[in-house]
Amino acid sequence: MIYETKVNDLAEEFGVHRNTIRNWINSGVLPAQEGPGRRYLIQWEDYKRLCDKYNREPRFVPDVAAAGESAAAPRSPVSAPVPVRLGVKTNPLHTSPALADICLTCGSCAGACPIAGVDDLDPRKIVRMAFLGLEEELVASGWPWKCTLCGKCEAVCPMNVEIVQLLRQIRARCERDKIPAAIRKGVVTCLEKGNNLGIPKDDFLALAREMGEELAQTSCPGFVTPIDARGARLLVTVNSKLPFAEPEAMTWWWKILYAAGESWTISSEYWEGLNWGLHAGDYSAMRTIVKRIIDNIERLNCTALLLPECGHAYYATRYALERWFPESLQQFKMYTVFDLLLEYLNEGRIRLDPASQTKLTTFHDSCHYGRHSLKTFGHGYFEEARTLTRACCTRYVDLVPDREEGYCCGAGGGAWADPFGAERVFHGRIKARQIGASGAKLVVTSCINCRDQIRFSLNREFNLNVEVQFLWELVANALSMTPQGGNEARHA
Ligand code: SF4
Ligand code: SF4
Repeated sequence: MIYETKVNDLAEEFGVHRNTIRNWINSGVLPAQEGPGRRYLIQWEDYKRLCDKYNREPRFVPDVAAAGESAAAPRSPVSAPVPVRLGVKTNPLHTSPALADICLTCGSCAGACPIAGVDDLDPRKIVRMAFLGLEEELVASGWPWKCTLCGKCEAVCPMNVEIVQLLRQIRARCERDKIPAAIRKGVVTCLEKGNNLGIPKDDFLALAREMGEELAQTSCPGFVTPIDARGARLLVTVNSKLPFAEPEAMTWWWKILYAAGESWTISSEYWEGLNWGLHAGDYSAMRTIVKRIIDNIERLNCTALLLPECGHAYYATRYALERWFPESLQQFKMYTVFDLLLEYLNEGRIRLDPASQTKLTTFHDSCHYGRHSLKTFGHGYFEEARTLTRACCTRYVDLVPDREEGYCCGAGGGAWADPFGAERVFHGRIKARQIGASGAKLVVTSCINCRDQIRFSLNREFNLNVEVQFLWELVANALSMTPQGGNEARHA
């Protein structure tokens, strides 16, 4: 049986943009044939499968009798529900009451989750299954990888069930060859070669020097990329995606550091700022990667650390420092991007010109810098982000809702690298609607995955037509460079 429909009708039915439907069709997620009158012909089974995936009642139900089949045909017997038998509670997933035992089954978490219903994912169900000891089923479900660990669910939980922590534990229990290949590969490559993408040391150093020379010629006279500058105050890590794919993006921070007269350095070894041990549920890898940063700080005699490009990297590093190396937090200061930029601004080390950006601008909160940092470290970086953004533009509008109640872009928790592209876009539909409703033409954010999801994916899927910038890109473009602006770290 065939379901004949139009892209617009299907988009309305599933609550997504028509581009998303077209992409589902083009990518084979939804097999369909073009029919007359810009309609598509979809096999009933394929349509039903899509409805099941997104937890929708089919709008179209085939008329079995009209199709020549007996409406009275015997139905397949409905199997009786199999009772769950509870054994001795040896399952560490719920040894802590915070993980499952205190759940009231109120369903608030499911109501808040942007992808509840997709492939039967439901945070309440996950908590219940953990309580019932259905660990193997949870590990096999694939839900923890479609979930972005955004924390919307636990933010509304009246019992403070640690749902994200539970999901991280389930990720940690997956056999390593069962976790999404890109994440596994990133962690293994980082452990073996020092960065997620396996960029050789000589290539990285040559590129970093070359980008520094270009910066010196364009806007920062005398700039030399500081590498292994012993005694520099600030150690700055690098996200391997940048030297790999867009090296000029590294120079936005360099320009700011130059203007502020900062004493800073990059390490020639283990310079990676990403830590996918967090996404993989691989705590051993997470610890190892953070220990390398500590070793670099000690080797180079630095007193402060900046992880510039990613919300998860900051969270993973801070979490690991507090958990395994608390003494190191007495030895050096760990900056967020917001702390450092505000320090420069408040101390007059940089000056920003709001007239440099006249587009209506908004800020998207990264879950890790926002909700997760608030919950885990006691402070979410909401107001700092807006103070800095407003200092760089003439017109600003907030998204609704935002800050602690903001929605994930859909690419958190490693989802940008996961194979679940359709789920990622579906998750991002709420963010896309928010941006569209705000009227903003420029979205500023503080995380590379958020930036890429909004810039490349949501823009295309939902016809947003917005520009997306890193916060430090916005700041670098708004800098009022003075002739005496210098870089005290030129001693590399
Ligand atoms: S919101 Fe909390 S108490 Fe309610 S069902 Fe979800 S986990 Fe249980
Ligand atoms: S963390 Fe986010 S995506 Fe995952 S279950 Fe909770 S609300 Fe849903």
